[in-house]
Amino acid sequence: MERVYNFSAGPSMMPEEVLQKAAAEMLNYENSGMSVMEMSHRSPVYEKIITDAENLLRQVMEIPDNYKVLFLQGGASTQFAAVPLNLMSNGKADYVLSGQFSTKAYQEAQKYGDAYAAASSKDINFSAVPKVSKEDFRADADYVHICFNNTIYGTKFSYIPDTGDIPLVADLSSCILSEPVDVSKFGVIYAGAQKNMAPAGLTVVIIREDLLGQARKETPTMLDYKVMADNGSMYNTPPCYCIYVAKLVYEWILGLGGLQAMKARNEKKAALLYGYLDGQDYYKAPVAKDSRSMMNVTFVTGDADLDKKFCAEAAKAGLVNLKGHRSVGGMRASIYNAMPYEGVEKLVAFMKEFAKNNPKM
Ligand SMILES: *Cc1c(COP(=O)(O)O)cnc(C)c1O
Repeated sequence: MERVYNFSAGPSMMPEEVLQKAAAEMLNYENSGMSVMEMSHRSPVYEKIITDAENLLRQVMEIPDNYKVLFLQGGASTQFAAVPLNLMSNGKADYVLSGQFSTKAYQEAQKYGDAYAAASSKDINFSAVPKVSKEDFRADADYVHICFNNTIYGTKFSYIPDTGDIPLVADLSSCILSEPVDVSKFGVIYAGAQKNMAPAGLTVVIIREDLLGQARKETPTMLDYKVMADNGSMYNTPPCYCIYVAKLVYEWILGLGGLQAMKARNEKKAALLYGYLDGQDYYKAPVAKDSRSMMNVTFVTGDADLDKKFCAEAAKAGLVNLKGHRSVGGMRASIYNAMPYEGVEKLVAFMKEFAKNNPKM
């Protein structure tokens, strides 16, 4: 079987060059006589891998020096608890509800204090991102939490909310590394790696240094950002192999010209797909134009049976994992960094063909 175009929302496609490099280095990494997955995380050869990974990520994202980079486990979902445990020192935090993950984060925070839904787009089935301004937030909130790209609904903030002096905490799981972001606008950025960065098992946290050291005393040691920062993400065994693959991905991005180049590639892919969707009426794209995600593109035929047929026939044509999230239905094409332009061209050609062959009554 040939490799397919995999539109999965995550775990998702990896750049083929990265897989090839990892395969070539699998049995004997740089003359160490062993695979990276067999190494002690305290060995000099591995120390270099994790240090390089951090430095490369700093370079790719232009992370300011007053931010720490943490390589953690537990997925983005563990951060839903770690954020309030570390940052809710007044016991108050404001959440913008723009989809399922931000709602989960909000519900988790309610276990630890006064979490408040400052804005929500639930009433429009999360088909757009709420427009928020400083006045929407409580002046004494410890932080404001947003989910920057809503993987399930295919929406994204087209702006960085102004929270004044309140630290902005953002879940960037499904858009990190897709385009440049101004890290200095955020107090904390976190992301599960399996969308756009590495295999599942790694979570990256980028945190402004002055926010460290406020964890409440019952915070599990493993969730305490300061402990992790003080130990260079090695309080315990880090997700060694995932960090190594992430390093290869950072090198791949730099080799292609960094995040400006990624943005140009991603814009071109998204423009092709949205451009097609906007120019016909067989498929409908439910998301408001000003909230469209560049990474996750959702669309429906309006008929659940046709949607099902679409996904089945697409898979036969080598275009897999196009089924929308179980809570939304329809289709979702996740077109992360690793999806080549040709994959989107093939998808659009398939969509045209399917529409022609399956007229609606
Ligand atoms: C996938 C995803 C999550 C959940 O990530 P896990 O690593 O499975 O916990 C959270 N937020 C966003 C935006 C996601 O895309």
